[in-house]
Amino acid sequence: MKNFMIAQPQSIEEAVSLLSAKKESYYLMAGGTDLIGEIKDNIVEPDVVVDLSSLPNLSSIKKEKNGVRIGALTTVAELAEDRMIKEEYPGLHQAANSLASPQLRNVGTVGGNLCQRPRCWYYRDSEVKCRKKGGSRCYAYRGRNRYHAILGGGLCYIVHPSDLAPMLIALEAEISIHSDKGEKIVPLEDFFVLPKTNVHKENVLEPGEILTEVRIPASQTGDKSTYLKLKERGTWDFAVVSAAVKGTLSKGAFQNIKIVLGGVAPVPWRMKKAEDMIKGKKAAEDLLREAAREELKEANPLEENGYKKDLVETVLYRAVLSLM
Ligand SMILES: Cc1cc2nc3c(=O)[nH]c(=O)nc-3n(C[C@H](O)[C@H](O)[C@H](O)COP(=O)(O)OP(=O)(O)OC[C@H]3O[C@@H](n4cnc5c(N)ncnc54)[C@H](O)[C@@H]3O)c2cc1C
Ligand code: SF4
Repeated sequence: MKNFMIAQPQSIEEAVSLLSAKKESYYLMAGGTDLIGEIKDNIVEPDVVVDLSSLPNLSSIKKEKNGVRIGALTTVAELAEDRMIKEEYPGLHQAANSLASPQLRNVGTVGGNLCQRPRCWYYRDSEVKCRKKGGSRCYAYRGRNRYHAILGGGLCYIVHPSDLAPMLIALEAEISIHSDKGEKIVPLEDFFVLPKTNVHKENVLEPGEILTEVRIPASQTGDKSTYLKLKERGTWDFAVVSAAVKGTLSKGAFQNIKIVLGGVAPVPWRMKKAEDMIKGKKAAEDLLREAAREELKEANPLEENGYKKDLVETVLYRAVLSLM
């Protein structure tokens, strides 16, 4: 592990001015549960780690008229334990509770969870220079690919590891990003990028930018949400496949519904075709399975991960029916 300096800015203004001066030699750190692992394994070699933990006012959950604002430094445990979140956004409560172990939830932050790096074992091996790390090959494509993407792959077959991201997208969350140019608001769905857009990154954050807040629109009467995560092990684990569902139920049918899958693609995967098939109809297992199959027409499984197609069908019908 290479030696590095730590900077501890005391305000967002100080942080962004530090970042704009340092250009690309810095790495941001919130809880450090992902970044420290990457540094120890020599996956990244920062000159300066910018520790965001002393930034004020970024670790609260505030309910306002238009919705909820969640500071990027709010820990996953704080999110999971928040009573208002549990009552008004049960799917988000479930997603936060499903994530990692209590120790990791106590330290890991919401912003860090959305910005965490891939778990592909070739990416995490410092000896392997795959395409994501500037090499010319994806070793998962013809290698061990049991946990990799069945949708949206191509140049790189990572799956986005975040449990919060699919649920927050289904809830139509936006994020706030600060830089020396000021603040911008981005729909979370537009934050993540496919490898064909940029194989080296998982999101649109540019050097010098900090994710500072997540905003969720106010919950409406009749809104329902759930997060269902299929894991290989009973204890903590990343999702093999997960489904985040949010909809408004009226007379046994969803008038609007948002479904986002985790564990199947390099980005949280919005099931737009399936949503269109389900909208306004009485949800039943047959219809939901058919909707999943329609979405999966563009799936492109690798040698070891075709089983994920069956899991998508199962997770979709179970998640949607649990809301009826
Ligand atoms: C054993 C283990 C099991 C896990 N299981 C799960 C799981 O089941 N589900 C799941 O979703 N996650 C899981 N994780 C990932 C974990 O949730 C994340 O490591 C954690 O949420 C990241 O938060 P952090 O604050 O520690 O991020 P850090 O490690 O500090 O940062 C992670 C990345 O995000 C960047 N970053 C952090 N904050 C910001 C910000 N505000 N703006 C811009 N960039 C930022 C950092 O530069 C870094 O690249 C697991 C991790 C481990 C180690
Ligand atoms: S899936 Fe992506 S991170 Fe994994 S080996 Fe292929 S290019 Fe590298």
